[in-house]
Order: sequence, then structure tokens, then C-alpha cells
Amino acid sequence: MLNRPFVCLAYAALASAGAEAEAETKLPAKTAIQQITPAGASASIPGPAEFFTGRVRIDPVYPANETINASGGLVTFEPGARSAWHTHPLGQYLVVTAGVGLTQEWGRSIQVIRPGDVVWCPPGVKHWHGAAPTTAMTHMAVTGALDGKNVDWMEKVSDEQYLAR
Ligand code: MN
Repeated sequence: MLNRPFVCLAYAALASAGAEAEAETKLPAKTAIQQITPAGASASIPGPAEFFTGRVRIDPVYPANETINASGGLVTFEPGARSAWHTHPLGQYLVVTAGVGLTQEWGRSIQVIRPGDVVWCPPGVKHWHGAAPTTAMTHMAVTGALDGKNVDWMEKVSDEQYLAR
């Protein structure tokens, strides 16, 4: 097994502390190790015109897995670009990393979001997010998935809705 030498090395440290026997019995049946996914492992994807207005780039960061049921992705909106209206079955966190953005919940006013701001979109709440009219915006999106689905798309955000500030 490829990972075995690394595991043995890690447990050698415990052995020196007199925990050798204990360490051996506490080894989980399936020993997992850290994984480093190299930068650039996933290609950038254009945001589909069906779901986005303007130029949008999605850089996948990590998929959901068996223990953390949420994927992470960096989404970059050019000035004026935005998502369509949508909901998330398990909700979504947005962490703004660059630029100036806008987000809006159905029936409420548009909010300006900036780097460091964290937006929580509760499950089933209709909303959109995107860039400001003259400034690009990038956010990390952390989105839970229910039965493999993490978004339900609706109609586009019209120019009238987008500019209603
Ligand atoms: Mn969303």
C-alpha cells in the first residue's frame, strides 16, 4: 500500500511517547491521509448563458464528499454580469473575495457586497448575485447538495430589476 510508509512514520512518533500498542489498536479500519489537489487541476468554465447574464467565469475549487456535503467554487462576474434568480435546496454561503458585488432576495432591496462580506442564502430563498454595474466581483460559493442537486434556476434578472437601486 502506497500510504503505509507515511502512516508508519506518523505512528513512530507516538511509539516514542510509549503509546505504540495503543496507536496500533486505534488505527481506523480505513486509514485516510491528506490530499492536496494542485492548483489548476480543474479548468475554468464559462457561466452558461442560460443561467447567467453577461460574462461569468466559474473556477471549481472542491466537490462535495461523503463527510462534507457542500461544494466550493470561485465565481467571477464581469461588470454588469449576474446570475439568474434561483434557490438552493440546502442553502449557500458566499464569501466575497474581490471587487464590488450586488445581491438581492426576492421582495427585498439590492445589497452591496464587498471583499470579506459573507452572505448566507437560506434554503429555498429566491435570490441572485453578481457584479456591480461598473466593477467586477469574485466570490467563493459554498453550496450544499440535496440528492446531487444544489440549485434550482428561475428567470433571468432583467435590466430593470438589476438597476433598481
Ligand atoms: Mn445563490
